[in-house]
Amino acid sequence: MTRLLIIGPPGSGKGTQAVQIAKHFRIPTVSTGEIFRINVSHETPLGVEAAKYLDDGAFVPDHLTNALVKDRLLDADLQPGFLLDGYPRTAPQIVELDNILASQSHRLDAVVELRAPDSELEQRMLRRAKEQGRKDDTIDVFRHRLDLYHSETHEVVAVYAGRGILVSVDGSGDPSAITTRAIAAVEKFLATRVSHENCSDRRQRKTGTACGPQADRRRPPGAEPGPGGGTAPRVGNRGPAQLWPGP
Ligand code: ADP
Repeated sequence: MTRLLIIGPPGSGKGTQAVQIAKHFRIPTVSTGEIFRINVSHETPLGVEAAKYLDDGAFVPDHLTNALVKDRLLDADLQPGFLLDGYPRTAPQIVELDNILASQSHRLDAVVELRAPDSELEQRMLRRAKEQGRKDDTIDVFRHRLDLYHSETHEVVAVYAGRGILVSVDGSGDPSAITTRAIAAVEKFLATRVSHENCSDRRQRKTGTACGPQADRRRPPGAEPGPGGGTAPRVGNRGPAQLWPGP
């Protein structure tokens, strides 16, 4: 049962990596961008509404996006796990996802952040514009999407960093090398987390204290002890994450 989320700026190869990572963990992907594009091409009522925003590189309003995701996350095929691609992107979307997951007694296991320099993102977008002909892959619309990413979605990244579940991955270079890096990073993170949780449960039950020296040995490189002996992994080059309680 793995519940993952992938976040990255436009042109970061998020969609491509989502498919490969999901295949590895044997979970379905849910891509809000893809769902919107399918609806636009079929001219459904949602598609007609969403097209107004997609074409300009703007966010589809939260109430539409949240309703769509809520509906999809209740589907039976997603109960064993999923990889969300492109959601949440705003603070209210985080709240909605927290509520949906809590109502199912679920939680996110890890959030993969793909990082790449803006110059590389632009080059990739121009290539994709030729290959796929996406309407929102023009230089002006791309820049607007990138601005939105830096101004709004970056906050989403910060929240998950605060909760200690962010796994930052270098998203530059060859796509298959990025996949290998991303899968290895997630596997390592999940293993560390499980081992730490087992450790806390066992020792805390026995002694009423956190793992202490054992927690230190298990702490991933760069992580700092959090309140109660918990650890938070180092997040990219932003330094150690603060522990920020989840829902
Ligand atoms: P990219 O990451 O390259 O922007 P996506 O396929 O993830 O591509 O998204 C394409 C478009 O779909 C976005 O620019 C936006 O208009 C819309 N969209 C996707 N996900 C969301 C979301 N969570 N909230 C609002 N709009 C979204």
